[in-house]
Amino acid sequence: SQVKLNPLIKMHKDACDFYHHVLLTTRAGERGMKYARERELSDEILEHFQIGYAPKQDNLLLTYLHDKGYEDDELAKSGLFVESQDGCLFDRFRDRLMFPLGNESGQIIGFSGRRISQDKTEAKYMNSPETEIFTKSKVLFHFAEAKKAARSEGHLILYEGYMDVISAYKAGVHSGIASMGTSLTDQQVYMLRRITPNIIINYDGDDPGVHAEERAAHMFEKVGGFNLGIVVLPEKLDPDEYVKKYGAEKYRDEVKGALSPTDFFLKRLAQKYNLSNDRERITYLSEAVKEIAHLSNPVEQDIYLEKVAKQEGVSKDSLKVNLMRERRRQN
Ligand code: ATP
Ligand code: MN
Ligand code: MN
Ligand code: MN
Repeated sequence: SQVKLNPLIKMHKDACDFYHHVLLTTRAGERGMKYARERELSDEILEHFQIGYAPKQDNLLLTYLHDKGYEDDELAKSGLFVESQDGCLFDRFRDRLMFPLGNESGQIIGFSGRRISQDKTEAKYMNSPETEIFTKSKVLFHFAEAKKAARSEGHLILYEGYMDVISAYKAGVHSGIASMGTSLTDQQVYMLRRITPNIIINYDGDDPGVHAEERAAHMFEKVGGFNLGIVVLPEKLDPDEYVKKYGAEKYRDEVKGALSPTDFFLKRLAQKYNLSNDRERITYLSEAVKEIAHLSNPVEQDIYLEKVAKQEGVSKDSLKVNLMRERRRQN
């Protein structure tokens, strides 16, 4: 059967091939290749992720696509070019390492380009603008590939960034996807729900990352039916930095040690109080009980009550009394 392909999708495939070719085989691509090697990207990785390079000078993509027969009106709405006031087109991405972004079936619909120059006045990443085929809120980097790996690995792992997915991949974790920043969307949550209930959140270990993990966990819980694990990496590292510093095996151990949402919340809560001060400790315990009271499974409640009681040197029975009160209040 002949399914009519959106011409913009064909164009993005051509653009991806072009950027990839420039990176791998041309003089113009040497700058990009130097950066790729600094980030420890092997040929195999460049191939798997179809990474490319948008050259610094001229309008090479425009020329290439013109030669392939694309018309200006099509090119103008692709998002791959910027248009001057008098209607001239110019390559949008320049001197950037190019990460293709796919839709659910893996067709390329946009790009994100990593700045490789030291010029901090330029944005670190630049994305395609919203187009007929590209809606950022519905895209997850590496989704089509990770979906297949999820069958054998039993879960999907959610990262912030492209390099995190890539380093995890090198470390043997092939089911990684990226929300492309810390603002996960409802659409992305539903995309994941269709693949597996088992989601591990592994955002960056810095404050914005951990804060975003909390927000993401609430979003997953609101939709419901997920089985969540949350990884908090030490020293504010992001997964890419962690793998480079501690290696693949240690990283896989971190994933295996993912916290349950309740453990994660309790840990975050404990950090807000000075637990050697009795008044603060009492407040912490009542907040912890409130958190545990939200759990619907009594066995789970019991496990966490026990944990908190042990940790704080109080009796589980007294916590249980408070929990019953709390549950009456919540109902
Ligand atoms: P790198 O390792 O290349 O320095 P990163 O992935 O660690 O980048 P973060 O600042 O942690 O960068 O951001 C996480 C992700 O958020 C990025 O991978 C990218 O998808 C997205 N992002 C960050 N900055 C921007 C930006 N200026 N525009 C669009 N997306 C961005
Ligand atoms: Mn970050
Ligand atoms: Mn990061
Ligand atoms: Mn990083």
